[in-house]
Amino acid sequence: MAQQTNDIEKTELWSLASKLVSFDTVSAHSNSEAIEYLADYAREAGLQVRVLTDEIDGIKKSSLLAWAGPAAEDGLIISGHTDVVPFDGQPGWQYDPLVMQRSGDSVYGRGVTDMKVFIAQAFVAAKELDLTQLQRPLVFILTYDEEVAGQGSGRLVKTLPKQFTEVPLPKVALIGEPTDYEIFPAHKGYASFDVRVHGKGGHSSVPAKGLNAIDKMSDVIRIVREMDHELQAHTTTENKTLFAECPYSAFNYGMIHGGLAPNMIADTCRLTLSLRIIPDDDFGEILKKLQTRFDHEITANMRESGPECGVFIENIVMTPPLKSQTDHPLAHMLSNIMERPLNQGAPYATDGGQFAALGIQSYICGPGALAEAHQPNESLSIENFLSGQERITRLIQQWCIADHQ
Ligand SMILES: [Zn+2]
Repeated sequence: MAQQTNDIEKTELWSLASKLVSFDTVSAHSNSEAIEYLADYAREAGLQVRVLTDEIDGIKKSSLLAWAGPAAEDGLIISGHTDVVPFDGQPGWQYDPLVMQRSGDSVYGRGVTDMKVFIAQAFVAAKELDLTQLQRPLVFILTYDEEVAGQGSGRLVKTLPKQFTEVPLPKVALIGEPTDYEIFPAHKGYASFDVRVHGKGGHSSVPAKGLNAIDKMSDVIRIVREMDHELQAHTTTENKTLFAECPYSAFNYGMIHGGLAPNMIADTCRLTLSLRIIPDDDFGEILKKLQTRFDHEITANMRESGPECGVFIENIVMTPPLKSQTDHPLAHMLSNIMERPLNQGAPYATDGGQFAALGIQSYICGPGALAEAHQPNESLSIENFLSGQERITRLIQQWCIADHQ
């Protein structure tokens, strides 16, 4: 290990990982250069490659599909997102976020944990394997805008099945988000939306002539709180195991804005809420129930002040939950390789929730600790940096090369 650790900066893995860190793939920017670089790398490694591009708000965004192996069923997807969270203006950085560097027992840089080193480990593993030995397809899917509520994979899943003509789209995926090599078969979904109260402004000296939107928002908050209590009753034994710290769907009051001045009747108020949803709850139903209660209990009484008055739900963004089988050959294989049990849910949402719409069973497992993701001086232990490639190699060998079924 000492030898390996000293030579770390001379490895192929170091070279690819540091190159990936050097691309500024903050979600608001383009990730296309990084994807093109990885596409070239995959081609050289002997994989077939397809780059898919979208234009989002005038910015070119790309996803990469790369695959090798025969046109057999039961392939394996290895997936990661190429975007990273912002670092500009984030206080506390002592390192250049775009220059991967080593200090002590860790490597530093934006994305080392979430999740560029994982991508590098997987690509180097594929390059060093003899891909002609594959009995089942090995497929890489790299996404963009995962950090923006999984919007990139949300678009990708709509076209994914028709992209797979040479090999069948595999039904299992490893997603290498930072878990410190714990294996998460599930996570909650995540949704955010605005509740806008439209009232009627006026001078505060005659309250009866207006309709105060901030006052009405207090009724919105009461209803959300009641719904929250109802959701808490929904928990199951399984969810108590998967999501021990919060085994039910839960709202969060994120932001609130309303009114213009102390002496004016507030004509609008906007509350931004988020909801983390257990796999058993249905976001659409929750939303419908909320809107119905707003309509009956608030808007109905506001309409005499004008047809525009009321409570409106807007700007809905949603990442679906994930619940993969725990009794599944890939789950057992991962558990064996990582020497970990498999019984908790991830505390965050991933692209796996979107993949589930295509019947793909995803398992979340990768290098780095969640506590390090999104932080200034994002870091990854040298141990995780070095051991990842071998873990992925073993998985590919066992799933795609050896007889496992
Ligand atoms: Zn991530």
